[in-house]
Formats: sequence, structure tokens, C-alpha cells
Amino acid sequence: MAKQSTKNIGMDVASPKEACEDINCPFHGSLKVRGRTFTGVVLSSKMHKTCIVEWERSYFLQKYERSEKRKSKVKAHNPPCINAEEGDLVKIAECRPLSKTKNFVIIEKVGREKLFTEKMEARQESKVKDKEKVEEKEEHPKEE
Ligand SMILES: [Zn+2]
Repeated sequence: MAKQSTKNIGMDVASPKEACEDINCPFHGSLKVRGRTFTGVVLSSKMHKTCIVEWERSYFLQKYERSEKRKSKVKAHNPPCINAEEGDLVKIAECRPLSKTKNFVIIEKVGREKLFTEKMEARQESKVKDKEKVEEKEEHPKEE
């Protein structure tokens, strides 16, 4: 068996151009993928070989007969041959639990999220504003 052969993982994705030595890589290691697949944005790739991936889904409220947007966030394994970065759109697939909170692996880089840095900054700002509001309330509790 050739050492660096790229395996067919059984899903309709383009295999990575680079090779890697990661045992938990679905293309070059012994990891098998099965179950659900999602496409999401990488929020953070700071952890060692791990990314946080988030995507939006619509949740139907029966009482109001309308849908609202909800978000799902999971940790996913980031093999060195794919090496996804923050703001990348990636396809993830379910695999065996790789650690306590990691049950997914990135299988393909689809593209870049548009205006990712702007969106993240806006999110950060709204967090700061919420904090300021809480602090204001704590400082003047009797005025309200
Ligand atoms: Zn690999």
C-alpha cells in the first residue's frame, strides 16, 4: 500500500491537494466518516487541529406559524491537509467522537464567507454594548 494515497471517503467532495500524516484525517488517516453533514463558517481556528464551525437553520414556531433563525455551533477536527482558516466556508461530516466535544471533521473547503471580519466586529460590538447596559443597571439600580 502506498503510504500517502488519498482515500475515497464515500462522499461527493473534492479530495485535498496536499497530503498529511494525521491519523485522524479522513483522507490520509484511518478516520471513517458517517452520519450527518453540514456546511458552515469557521469562527475560530486557534485550537490545535480544531475549528469552531457555525451555521444557521430555521426553526418553525407552531404558535406563530413563522420560522425564526437559530444557530448551531460545533467543534470540528481540522486536518493539516485542509487547514481551514477563520472565515472559510467548510463542509463537515460526522465521525466517531475524537474528544469530549469533537464529533465532526472538516472534509472540504467550499469558499470564503463574504464580509466575515465585518460581521465578527459587529457581533463583538453588540456584546460590548450589552455589557455596558448591564453595568449601567448595576450602578443605578434605584433610578429605574
Ligand atoms: Zn490529510
